[in-house]
Amino acid sequence: MACSKMYPVARMALSIRGPATFGIRLQSTAAAAPKVKGAEEQNQQHVGDTTGERMCQLGSQVDLIERSENRVEMKPCPADSINFGNTQEAYKSKPTWELMRSLVVFWLCSIDPLVDRNQQILNLSKKVFGKRLFEAIMKMSFYGQFVAGEDQETIKPLIRRNSAFGVGSVLDYSVEEDLTQEEAEKKEIESCTAEAEKENDGFARREKKYQVQPGFGDRRGGVISARTYFYADEAKCDHHMETFLKCIEASGGSSEDGFSAIKLTALGRPQFLLQFSEVLIKWRRFFHQLAADQGKSGLAAVEIELEVEKLMESLAKLGIATKDESHSWFTGENLGLSGTVDLLDWNSLIDSRTKISKLLLVPNLQSGQLEPLLSRFTEEEDLQMKRMLQRMDVLGKKALEKGVRLMVDAEQTYFQPAISRLTLEMQRIFNKDRPIIFNTYQCYLKEAYDNVTADVELSRREDWHFGAKLVRGAYMQQERSRAAEVGYDDPINPTYEKTNEMYHRCLDYVLEEIRHNRKANVMVASHNEETVKFTLKRMNELGIYPNEKKVYFGQLLGMCDQISFPLGQAGYPVYKYVPYGPVNEVLPYLSRRAQENRGIMKGAARERELLWKEIKRRAVTGNLFYSPEF
Ligand SMILES: Cc1cc2nc3c(=O)[nH]c(=O)nc-3n(C[C@H](O)[C@H](O)[C@H](O)COP(=O)(O)OP(=O)(O)OC[C@H]3O[C@@H](n4cnc5c(N)ncnc54)[C@H](O)[C@@H]3O)c2cc1C
Repeated sequence: MACSKMYPVARMALSIRGPATFGIRLQSTAAAAPKVKGAEEQNQQHVGDTTGERMCQLGSQVDLIERSENRVEMKPCPADSINFGNTQEAYKSKPTWELMRSLVVFWLCSIDPLVDRNQQILNLSKKVFGKRLFEAIMKMSFYGQFVAGEDQETIKPLIRRNSAFGVGSVLDYSVEEDLTQEEAEKKEIESCTAEAEKENDGFARREKKYQVQPGFGDRRGGVISARTYFYADEAKCDHHMETFLKCIEASGGSSEDGFSAIKLTALGRPQFLLQFSEVLIKWRRFFHQLAADQGKSGLAAVEIELEVEKLMESLAKLGIATKDESHSWFTGENLGLSGTVDLLDWNSLIDSRTKISKLLLVPNLQSGQLEPLLSRFTEEEDLQMKRMLQRMDVLGKKALEKGVRLMVDAEQTYFQPAISRLTLEMQRIFNKDRPIIFNTYQCYLKEAYDNVTADVELSRREDWHFGAKLVRGAYMQQERSRAAEVGYDDPINPTYEKTNEMYHRCLDYVLEEIRHNRKANVMVASHNEETVKFTLKRMNELGIYPNEKKVYFGQLLGMCDQISFPLGQAGYPVYKYVPYGPVNEVLPYLSRRAQENRGIMKGAARERELLWKEIKRRAVTGNLFYSPEF
């Protein structure tokens, strides 16, 4: 059946292993040791700051660093010792004209009609001003604010400057096709439908969530933070891979401890991601159903232990396997030694090692019928899937070779289970000696805690370096309306507060893991000051030192400098997601930046207030022509 054909290929492509540790640097400096001279004196009076704030500020730079012989040691920083309102520190890397540009850009973003019609305005401006003038205007405004440059070379000065002020880079090639909504929908329908489904209405078998939905074919709708790829053909995917490879090279070349970001939807036909996601979710749901049968519902996923004896009885009752047949499934090397099977054991059944084709039938809860997990792939589809996995493998090897960490971005929930699982497979291969591959967990998801804890537990059990980026999630609006319209459960937490709780709960779990096992790593990718403060507080309580580089912080270029730079100056590993690409090709990205910085957003208002405060401070202290030296 289809899956017995699928998994050996998946496993094979992913198990082409790279050399173990070559090209790896153990030292890192990008975001750790600020090498700033700064034209203004460090001890100059901070206008508007209290003495206490000032002491904290200096404390974050000086007192925390104790030099003993050749070693630089750092204490965890008390949460309140970094002052995110200290504008002098936050904007030390910027000349005043850049602050003014930020202020103008953020002010423009606060004008709703401008933001609502930004695409029409940009198109009209292109026509009126002509290409060259339009590009020049963009570079002086929006593009200059949010994008680092056109290519790997032009972004280097900015990367160097940020690095000198303690802020590293996650390179993020941000070119997007400028498709119309109709074109995007057409491409999506085509690339998410399997041949078998076209022929005999195989859709009927797929759950609604994992069927392509024409009304939501344009995945860009309602997304504020992330760029979107649409599948054209295999050559285009190869082209994306080449771009990511250049990005990794550039990360390796421009800083000593860089990251690159990739999106798996750029690397292959999304139909595979849809179908594989459905398989994984059905499989997990089946586990929970069996747990409920054993009276174990309501527990966190990693806490559930199924009793093998009862499990075999259930499988026999459901007609999936006789007790004799299933006996061999649960007596493998790691399975069932304790007489129980947990979620990780259960998940491990779904790969080539077991080749249990019958297990790939699961009961449909509504109809009570057994259904195959996956419809059959054609030879061409099989090849497409294999090529996608090979592209991932090529990228993993290049990252390992260059000592660059690879962030795999999280996307929509109908792709994400597959994206996360494939990323995990890469981690198993490439994270043996150090964290090279980072997975992303979206904490707006109701299931975020189960996802994080299951993967941490697996990394512990298999002894590889867990690497995670924690985000709240960029697709909320789209996810909610798709769920409501198509008719399945909303995957998103009901309120913002619940998402915050989830974020802190997941983060706390990983921080505890770091405390006990220094192999875990996490990037707190958020613009939320409370979340950053929460992280600092917990690091302090748990004795996690900034220079251990286990906890990173991440913000987007052009946003929240008041968080990034004080953290960097205090010696915390902090990174900017640094988008780059030609002006015309990053316009869709810029359009979303404008939306995220709308005046109604609390963060944007605070940023404008701080920028204004710093410009006034410079004016009053005669530093209007300040220019950073590094
Ligand atoms: C470095 C970096 C990398 C990123 N990478 C990714 C990625 O790979 N994938 C991805 O999906 N996103 C990614 N994002 C975007 C991220 O998910 C958020 O959309 C964005 O950062 C805003 O969240 P916040 O924590 O910064 O700020 P906040 O303003 O505190 O949070 C806003 C977020 O809270 C959630 N939220 C808001 N209202 C509600 C509500 N009513 N109910 C439930 N939840 C709600 C939403 O997720 C919303 O985006 C990334 C962000 C950064 C900074």
